[in-house]
Amino acid sequence: MKIAILSRNSKLYSTIRLIEAAEARGHEVRVLDVKRCYMNITSHNPSISYRGEKLTGFDAVIPRIGASVTFYGTAVLRQFEMMNVFPLNESVAISRSRDKLRSVQLLARKGIGLPVTGFANNPDDIEDLISQVGGAPLVIKLLEGTQGIGVVLAETHNAAESVIQAFMGLNANIMIQEFIKEAGGSDIRCLVVDDKVVASMKRQGTEGDFRSNLHRGGTASLIRLTPEERSTAVRAAQIMGLNVCGVDLLRSNHGPVIMEVNSSPGLQGIESASGKDIAGLIIQFIEKRTQSLENSKDKLATRTRTRGKG
Ligand code: ADP
Repeated sequence: MKIAILSRNSKLYSTIRLIEAAEARGHEVRVLDVKRCYMNITSHNPSISYRGEKLTGFDAVIPRIGASVTFYGTAVLRQFEMMNVFPLNESVAISRSRDKLRSVQLLARKGIGLPVTGFANNPDDIEDLISQVGGAPLVIKLLEGTQGIGVVLAETHNAAESVIQAFMGLNANIMIQEFIKEAGGSDIRCLVVDDKVVASMKRQGTEGDFRSNLHRGGTASLIRLTPEERSTAVRAAQIMGLNVCGVDLLRSNHGPVIMEVNSSPGLQGIESASGKDIAGLIIQFIEKRTQSLENSKDKLATRTRTRGKG
C-alpha cells in the first residue's frame, strides 16, 4: 500500500512510529505537511498538489491534524476522500470531535455519562447557569482550549462568577461543568482502534493540579478498566464516528464520565505505559479496511460483468 501521513512534523514520536510500523509491514509511506497540500476541487477529477507535484496513487491517508490547523487540515482530508483514498478517520468525524460543545451534545443525546455541563451567552444568565450545574466548585472551559490550557477550577461562587464574566467580556466561548472532585486530579485515557479498547492508562496531574494532561507534567501508569468504562469508551468512539481515537474519562461517583474524544491521540504515553505496538495495530486496521473495500469493488465489477454477459 501507499500511505500518506498528514503531519506538520515528521520528527514527532507518533509520526515516526507510524512510519516504522507501516514500513515494517511492507508499505510505502510519505509524510506530507498538510499546509503545503493544495487542491483543485473539480467534480470530475479532484486532485491534490504538493510543492508543485500532483499527488497520485495513495491507498490510505492517516490524518495527524493539530487543533490549530483543523479547518485547513480537514479540507485537505476531504479532498483525499473525494479521490477515494481511505482515511483512517473521516474528515467529518474529526470536525465533529474538535467541537467540544457539539461533542458533549452528541454524547448526551445517546445517554453517555458526562459531567453536568452548561453553556450560556448572556452574563445575566450566569447566576442561574451556575446553580443548574450544581454550584461551586465548578470547572470553566474555553471551547477553543487544548492540552489543559483554558480549563479553570473555580472553587467559590464568587470566583466562578468573576472568571465567567471575564471570559464573556473577552467574547470567549466557554462551557461550565460540574467539578468531579472524586477523580482526584486523574483521568483515564482509552485508546480505541476499530471499536475495541486496545490500551488504557491512568494519568495523574502534578501535585495540587486538578488537570491530568501529560503536557502539563502529568504522569502515566497502567490501569485495569471496568467493563462499563470499556463499553463507554467504545460507544463514545462510535458516536463520534472515529475508527481510531483517544477517549478520556473520569471516574465519578455516578460512573464513568467522558471528558473528550481525541481524533489524533499521541502514541508516546500510551505505548510506553502499555508496552503495546499501537502504531502496528493502526496499520493493521488500515490493511483490513482497504482490503475489504477492494473485495467489495471486485465483487461489484464481477457482478457488472456477469450481468453484461446475460
Ligand atoms: P483539554 O482538551 O484542554 O485537555 P479537558 O476538558 O480534557 O481539556 O480537561 C483537562 C483535564 O482537566 C482533564 O483531563 C481532567 O483531568 C481535568 N478536568 C477537566 N474537566 C474536569 C471536571 N469537570 N472535573 C474534574 N476534572 C476535570
